[in-house]
Amino acid sequence: MNLADRLRAAAERFGGRTVLTLDGAVLGYRALEVMSARVGALLRRRGIRPGDRVAVMLPNVPEFAVVYYGVLRIGAVVVPLDPLLKRREIAAYLVHCGARLVIAWHACAEAVEAGTAGTGADYLFVEPGEFRRLLRGVPPEHDVPATADGATAVILYSAGTTGRPKGIELTHGNLAGNAATVARMHALGVDDVVLGALPLYHAFGQTCVLNATVQAGARVTLLPRFEAGRALEVVRRDGVTVFQGVPAMFVALLDQPGVSDLSLLRLCVSGGAALPLDVLRAYEARVGRPIIEGYGLSETSPVAASNRGGPGRRPGSIGRPVRDVEMRVVDDAGREVRCGEVGEIVVRGPNVMKGYWNDPEATAEALRDGWFHTGDLGRADGDGFFFLVGRRREVIIRAGRTVYPREVEEVLYEHPAVRQAAVVGVPHPELGEEVAAYVAARAPVDAAELRAFVKERVAAYKYPRRVWFVEEIPTTPTGKILKRALAPPPAARPG
Ligand code: AMP
Repeated sequence: MNLADRLRAAAERFGGRTVLTLDGAVLGYRALEVMSARVGALLRRRGIRPGDRVAVMLPNVPEFAVVYYGVLRIGAVVVPLDPLLKRREIAAYLVHCGARLVIAWHACAEAVEAGTAGTGADYLFVEPGEFRRLLRGVPPEHDVPATADGATAVILYSAGTTGRPKGIELTHGNLAGNAATVARMHALGVDDVVLGALPLYHAFGQTCVLNATVQAGARVTLLPRFEAGRALEVVRRDGVTVFQGVPAMFVALLDQPGVSDLSLLRLCVSGGAALPLDVLRAYEARVGRPIIEGYGLSETSPVAASNRGGPGRRPGSIGRPVRDVEMRVVDDAGREVRCGEVGEIVVRGPNVMKGYWNDPEATAEALRDGWFHTGDLGRADGDGFFFLVGRRREVIIRAGRTVYPREVEEVLYEHPAVRQAAVVGVPHPELGEEVAAYVAARAPVDAAELRAFVKERVAAYKYPRRVWFVEEIPTTPTGKILKRALAPPPAARPG
């Protein structure tokens, strides 16, 4: 089944209802179906064939969904790109996936014109009024060709902080299946209003916000740029019932006087990065409702595990695998470790990617013995709940001893003056690495106090010998701390 078939089915069932809103603009299910059918026809006219790659560089606007389903319905492959990318990054991705066309937001015109030069990719800019006029002149093609579940639907480029681009190939089956799992797990229904704050070019937003909503006949209210005060306004104005965000969003919301208004929500979900226990507790104390933590990667479409509500919930855990998904903790040889021991988390299930685009080597490295190797370290308890301790490559080895940054960050977050914390290893001539911390403070505090605070609570080799203060810890749009951007020399005052 083609992912766009889900939209067609939804348009039949929920035709007159609204699917997307952005401030005053409203898009209904039937209108989305017809507009995407026009996009499909337009692309066919331009010679786009099944399997061709079409880059889509749009912010969280209704046109994202129109173009997304339009490309998918003719069997072509969507390559979503962050609208903030610059010319060089755009060119690298286009060449890597061999894109034939870029459909981009009008504000990205300059970067896209420069980025496509010499790549063989054509471009089309989307300005809402003009785009609508253009589509009106194209008769819609309503037939959706039969598409194998295993056919590639999207190629996602990972955050782009490493040198070599890796294109994650997700199939129609991967994405439709994971969206159905999310819709069911969260009991999404026609009365739900989902806040669309997560970027739709990322798997988290695509599956949990867009595709899950369409499957359920619910509605998304889009928020193109997350800003905590504005998010609260939209929640009140539109009667939002479901909010899915990254931890940085919850941290920002906690600083808002109106945060308790979030008690109106039916469901809050955090994912994409570690939700510090202290943030979870502070949020639950002020809002009076839980945050459900989920875990996954773009490679797993993305949802692999969820710490679902109810009495079985374990704060601080990423929960248990979702329906049809298996997770294990293994050692370097791929053997399952004993209960409670730390190892690499591996995932198996219908949500696991097909592979990395045109990269058999990276694919073979990640998909071994039928399991996807996540690069995340964690442990499981006797009841099958998983706990993350950090990324494999971010582990700090200090004089031969292992320090998991997450554990030290958790302690820092317990200090009332700490708003954000990131723990990293810095090179040290004798120890190999030394533990250091970057802190964004919400109240006056000095490095000596924070060092002493952590030292009192963890083994002596773990506390940060160096603490640097920064205004803001840099994160990706999906909330991951950009630890590389923090590497010394620090743009901070040493303490
Ligand atoms: P991405 O491929 O951009 O979706 O990033 C996936 C990575 O995000 C995972 O490998 C984890 O390191 C991180 N991640 C996702 N969910 C969580 C979570 N609940 N807690 C901690 N890290 C997470």
